[in-house]
Formats: sequence, C-alpha cells, structure tokens
Amino acid sequence: MSEITVANLAEIVGTPVDKLLEQLQSAGIALSGPEEMVSDEQKKQLLTFLKQSHGAKETNEPKRITLKRSVKSSLKVTGSSGKAKTVSVEVRKKRTYVKGGKIAAAEVEPETKPAVAPVVDAPVAVETVEAPVLDEAAQKAAIEAAAQAEAAKEAERLAQEKAELTAKLTQQAEALTRAEVESRLLEKEKQKREAEQTAKEAAKKSGKKDTVDEEPKRGRHFRDAEEEKPIRDDGNKKKRKKKTRGSDENEAEDVISKYSSSSRRKTDKHDIAPKVNKPIVAPKALQHGFSKPVEKKSMVVEIPETITVGELAQEMSIKAAQLIKSLMKMGQMVTINQPLDQDTAILLVEEMGHQAVAKSEVTVEQELISEGEKSRSAGEGKPRAPVVTIMGHVDHGKTSLLDFIRTAKVAAGEAGGITQHIGAYHVETKRGGITFLDTPGHAAFTSMRARGANATDIVILVVAADDGVMPQTIEAIQHSKAAGVPLIVAVNKMDKPEADPDRVKNELSQHEVIPEDWGGDTQFIHLSAKTGDGVDELLDAISLQAELLELKASDEGHAKGVVIEARLDKGRGAVASILVQSGTLNKGDIMLAGLHYGRIRALINDQGEMVDSAGPSMPVEVLGLSGVPSAGDDVLSVENERKAREVATDRTSKQRDEKLARQQAAKLENMFANMTEAEKKSVSVIVKADVQGSVEAIAKSLTELSTDEVVVNVIATGVGGIAETDISLAAASGAYIVGFNVRADASARKASEVEAVDIRYYSVIYDVIDEVKAAMSGMLSPERRQEIIGLAEVRDVFRSPKFGAVAGCMVIEGTVKRNRPIRVLRDNVVIYEGELESLRRFKDDVQEVRHGMECGIGVKNYNDVKAGDQIECFEVTEVARTI
Ligand code: GDP
Ligand code: MG
Repeated sequence: MSEITVANLAEIVGTPVDKLLEQLQSAGIALSGPEEMVSDEQKKQLLTFLKQSHGAKETNEPKRITLKRSVKSSLKVTGSSGKAKTVSVEVRKKRTYVKGGKIAAAEVEPETKPAVAPVVDAPVAVETVEAPVLDEAAQKAAIEAAAQAEAAKEAERLAQEKAELTAKLTQQAEALTRAEVESRLLEKEKQKREAEQTAKEAAKKSGKKDTVDEEPKRGRHFRDAEEEKPIRDDGNKKKRKKKTRGSDENEAEDVISKYSSSSRRKTDKHDIAPKVNKPIVAPKALQHGFSKPVEKKSMVVEIPETITVGELAQEMSIKAAQLIKSLMKMGQMVTINQPLDQDTAILLVEEMGHQAVAKSEVTVEQELISEGEKSRSAGEGKPRAPVVTIMGHVDHGKTSLLDFIRTAKVAAGEAGGITQHIGAYHVETKRGGITFLDTPGHAAFTSMRARGANATDIVILVVAADDGVMPQTIEAIQHSKAAGVPLIVAVNKMDKPEADPDRVKNELSQHEVIPEDWGGDTQFIHLSAKTGDGVDELLDAISLQAELLELKASDEGHAKGVVIEARLDKGRGAVASILVQSGTLNKGDIMLAGLHYGRIRALINDQGEMVDSAGPSMPVEVLGLSGVPSAGDDVLSVENERKAREVATDRTSKQRDEKLARQQAAKLENMFANMTEAEKKSVSVIVKADVQGSVEAIAKSLTELSTDEVVVNVIATGVGGIAETDISLAAASGAYIVGFNVRADASARKASEVEAVDIRYYSVIYDVIDEVKAAMSGMLSPERRQEIIGLAEVRDVFRSPKFGAVAGCMVIEGTVKRNRPIRVLRDNVVIYEGELESLRRFKDDVQEVRHGMECGIGVKNYNDVKAGDQIECFEVTEVARTI
C-alpha cells in the first residue's frame, strides 16, 4: 500500500516519468527506472527536497495557480455550398490566480496543451488560448508576522482613507464629480482588500484557498458576496446621503452606476440597469405568491338536492377538471355544467376525503309556507264544503250527472243561465255547499293526488245500471282506495228498462265495495242523470258523508290551494282555475302557483261573475299569473312579490336540474343493468300520459312486472304529448314508448319512423300491463288492438241549431269513417272519447272522408270542440303481438 512504482507516482502527481526520476535523483533518491518502487520514506524525502528547493527561490512571492476549463459546443454553419455543417468548437480557458497560501500537494507540472478544436465537417476552429506559461509550485514558507502586521496597518490606513474620502465627498460634492470619487474609492477599496487578503492568509496559514485576481476588472465578477459587502454598504450609504441633496447629483449617481459591478446593480433598486442579463430577483419579503398548504384540509361540504360539477368543485376548492377525473374513475362521463344528484355528489365528496352533509334548505319557500300557516291559525276549525270528484267508466254518465246537478242547482233560475266551465263548480243544497270537480275522466283526481294534493274528499263512482262494472270502474275504485277517499256509488241510468242495480252491487262487492244494506260502509244511490231522479238523494248522501268526515279549514289568512286546470287565453293571458283549500284568496293578492307567480288581476267564479275573494272549498278562476301552471300545482298567496318570484325561479331551475339528473341516472342505470345482467333480458319503457296520476300508476305497475328473467325499466315518464325529445331518448336507450291518452306530435311521429321507435297508444291502464305481461311470457296470441285509421284537424267550429257544434275539419291523415269510434285531441292529449254524430261533405252525409278532404264533423254529446283540436278515428283490430 505504502509502496508504489515511480510510474504510478508520476501518474498520480501528473508529472512525466522521466521528470520525476530526475527530481528523485536531485533529491538524492537513487531510483533508476519507472518500475522501481518508491517507499513512503522516499516520498517524504522528495517532498522535503522539492519544498526546500522552491521555497528558497520564492519565499515571499505569492503562488499562482492556473485553472483550466474547456467548453465543448457545436455550431451549425451553412457553408458556401449551402450545405449545413456542424462544427464542433472547443473553447479552452485558462485562468491564473495568484496564490498566497501553501499548497500541500506535490509539484504540479506546468502543462500547456495546445488547444486544438476537433473538426467534424469543416475546418473551422474557434480557439481561445489564454495561456501564460506559469510555473506552478507548492510553497511551504509562511508569511511572517511582520507581513501580517504590515497588512493590518495597511488595512487600517485604507479604512481611514476611505472614511476621509467619504467625508470629503459629502463636503465637496460640488467640486468633485461623483464618478471620480467613486473610481478612486474603488481603487482604494481594491487595495485595501488585497491587503486584507494577505493578512488573512498570513494569519491562517492553513492553506485555505482564497483568491485575489490579477486583473481587477475581471476580478470583480469573481468576488464573492462577502467581499462585495463593504462596497455595497458604502454605496448605499452614499445613496442615502445623496438623496437629501440636489437633483444634479442624480447624474453623478448614474456615472457611479457604471463603475459599479453588476452584482451591485442587482441589489440597487435606484439603479436603472436594463442591460443586466441576470433576472432581477426581488427580496423574499417583497415576492408575491403563496405557499402550497402542506396538509390536506378536510372540510365539510353542504350538498343541495342538485349541484353542478362546477359548483361542487368550487365548494371543495378544487379544479373542476379534477372532479371530472374522479367521476370518470367512478365510471361517469360528465361535463362541468352537468347537475349531479345529491347522492352522487355526497359519494364524490367523501371519495375526495371531505365530509358531505345533505343541505337542509330552509328556503324562502318554506318561509312562505310557515308564514301562511301562521296567518291562517286564527280562523282554524271552521267547517267547509266537501270537494267531490265524479269517476267511472266511459259513457256511464259522469258528464250527464255533473251537467244535471249544475243546471238544476246552479244555473236554474239565473238570467241567461250562462255557466262558465272552470273545472269545478259549487252548489248549495239545503244541507250545505258541495264543490264538484268536473274535469273529464280521472284527470283532476289523479293529477292532484300525484302531487300530494289530496283535494278530493269524496269520490262519486258512477256505474251504469245497464252495463255494470267495467275496467275504468275498477281503476276508479283503486284510485280512491289508494288515496283513502270514501266512495259513494251512483247507480246510473235507472230510467232504462234493462237497468240491473243488483248486478252492479254484486260486481262491486267482488271489488270490496260493499253496500250498506249488505253490511258494508258504502252508500249506493239509484238515480238517473237523464231524468234527475235520485240526484237529490245523492246530494244528501254526499252531505251525510261530509258530516262524518268533519271537514274543517281556516277561512282567514293567506290562501292555500291547488290548480285544477290552467290554460293560456289569447285575450286574458294565463288563466288558472284554483280550488282554495284554506285561507282566503283575494283580488290583488300575490299568488304563487307551481313555477309561476303574479298579482291577481281578477277572480271569476263558476258562474262567470267577478268576485273579490274566495274561501275554503271554493273554485275560482284567476287572472294575472306570469305563466301557465300545471294541474295539481300547489297555490299559495303571499305578501312579498320578490319572495314569490324567488321561489318561482328556484323551483324552475330545480325542476330542470332534477329532470336532467334523473335522465342521466336513468341512462347510467340502464347501462349498468345491461352490463351486469347480460343474461337477463330487459325491456325499457318511456311512459307518457295525459295526467301525472296515470303516469305514476303505469310506471309503478310496469316496474312491478319485473321477474327474475325479465326486468322492466321505466326510464322516463312525463305528462303531455309525445315529443321529439322522447323519441331520441327512446332511440338512445332502446326503449319503446307508452302513450296513455296522449299522441305523438307531427315531428315526433316523423322521428319515430326514422329512428324505428315503437310508440303504443292506450286508453285503459290494464291494456298497457297486459301487453307487456304477454310479451314477457312470450305469448304471441292475437290481441285486439286499436288502430288509428284517420286524423282530422279542426279548422273552425259552427253552431247549428239542429246539430249543435259542428267542426269544420280537414282530414290530414288516413280516412275518417262514419261508424268508427273517435277521440278528440287537444295538444296531443285525449280530451274526449266517443263517436261521430255526423259526417258530412258539403250538404251530404257521407260514410267516409279521405286524406286531403274537408268535412264537417259532429261529435255525439260533445260540444266543446275548438279550432286546432284534432279528431282521430280508430278501429279495433286483431293483430299478432309484436313486442
Ligand atoms: P261519461 O262518458 O261517463 O261522461 O258519460 P256521459 O255523461 O257522456 O253519458 C254517456 C251517454 O249515456 C250519453 O248518451 C247520455 O245521454 C247517456 N246517459 C247518461 N246518463 C243517463 C241516464 O241516466 N239515463 C239514460 N237513459 N241515459 C243516460
Ligand atoms: Mg264524459
């Protein structure tokens, strides 16, 4: 270990072997060849010799050291031939420093290699050779104490001088230009530093490498910060002083700047130094920015019923993109504006490591509701009239009964006898008032019930004594039972010879509607809507039932109620029929109805009279709403119009968001179902119906049909005609559409053909269920199916004393036939089902009218046809099941 060969040593110290041999010999070590071993002893000897020999020569001379650095780079040059060439450039720099300290290393051979640039393509070489050939030697001799003292003295002297100069500068600024002073100062400063350096080195003797540059100009750049300090401080001091002086000094300052080093400029904010290449770094305290939080903060996020992705991201103080990414990981592709339902949002928030709480919204809406309750509390407990709905199978006499009661009890005795159809009317009997809802079919009842507004107190079930229990009779029983509303059976058409009331009793008892005389609790009244026999008994029965129910309400305070029906009237704007349930509705009140609100311009009762107010159980027509609400929407009169508007706006956006979120969920669930239950068949259905109640009844029944093998998916539901959007949803999810008492509009029909979407029309709920059931069980037996054979559009309505209302029509599809059943459609919703009374072309009765022809149509027992309505003619045919 301690012995190595001469050659190795030469390599280590970086000296040619022969030179080393020479030196060894001079040191008195006899080693002849490069393979000879050199012992530690000999190495020391050599070292001592070398040190002595050099030391004798240059004891007090500062040593110098040369540092070499070569930088290789390449240049792209376009030659004269136009060819691009790559030229390698090697720049070798050599810098020599004067060494004041000792170097405890062996001699370093001077070595100056000629710098040659290796050329790749072209013989272009850039060469910087800065190579003063220097003897480098290690020096042992220490600098004497004298030198140290001298240096210290020199430093003191310099400091003094500087102080003097500074003072002079202050006093004689006018006489001297600042530049001169500064340059002189710098010169002094340099000298001082050099002296200091020497002193330091002398004191240390440890051989620490400190460098002082040969060339002061260049050296400035190499000064370290510590060395820089005195000047900088000084400069700043001067600046501060200078500031108090005149402005002509500024010029001088500029000059000083030129003399200052770049590193000084860097810190001098007064200096305008645009040519400094280094980025100007502001002091830490002045830097803008923020420090990234180290710990992840878990927070509590309140989630409303729906929230968009963007809003949720904001709540969590994260980027929306991050949230979208998380959702993608959960398998949901969403956009920033997409609303999420509460459950999804909560899941997501928890996934992100935060706490989620479902927002319990004490909304303006709730505020208004409780305000209303408070206002009504004073008048609580007053008896009110029962609200009655008449139900029953088609043609069993509902309309006839309603009309009879109305004409007999309301219009009778009144001048002109003009009655106003507002969806409900009120009669006074000797036993008290009764309010009848007269919306055709089950509409009012079901739509209100679906919205949680149980407006009906008693259901009158009309059963024709000559026909007995029919499908819609059963439907009516189920509806009223589900709602917990008591039934009174009106056995109608008792004037007919074939009337068989016992048959009705029998059949109804099979559906758990037991007459009182058979031990049940249901009143059966025999009557005739045609002759009016038994109608008074029915009214008595209603009053009796109402007494049992002990119906009460407050007749004071803000009104609360429900929309029975509403429409847009050309002259009067939005017109809504309202049933007040409690409180009192006044003209001039601000009213909130579903998504709309407004100040009540006028109140019109069922007899067409303007009234000032309406109390509990009173139907009234209201003008002044901002838009058309839906049947079944709740109504509230409020004090503050701003709050009403706020609630209406809130509800609108909420409804839209909920709808969107539901649609999205339906799609996703559907996808999920298809993926995980691959072997399980699924049927997707979209249900559209005339009223919400039917929608819900159908959707529920269909969903309940699901078995282990087949799943029935109701992916969307809605009230009203089938629109193009329904078709696209159906096409996207492979669903078929159930239209219950509604029809597809023209654009939807077209789209359904293009997209091959199956639309099925029904008017009896049981048919909907039966058809799906059959399809599920694979039965393909023939079915009786209604086929629409013709469609006529009502252009105008004429009144003739002989025929009543005659609709002037244009057949727009197929053929309208005289002896086929028809339906009257308004806004693609079935409003009447019946038959033709007359079909005429010009003055002739005809059997059929073809597409493109005009005709006059009289609808039997229906006089409310309006221009714009459609009359569809259908046939019941037997067809093979095709689902
Ligand atoms: P709805 O479909 O239940 O509204 O039944 P309608 O009130 O439209 O009546 C259907 C048909 O039955 C009409 O032709 C009425 O004239 C007839 N009708 C209704 N009530 C009676 C009745 O008490 N006696 C007789 N003979 N016919 C009636
Ligand atoms: Mg009717």
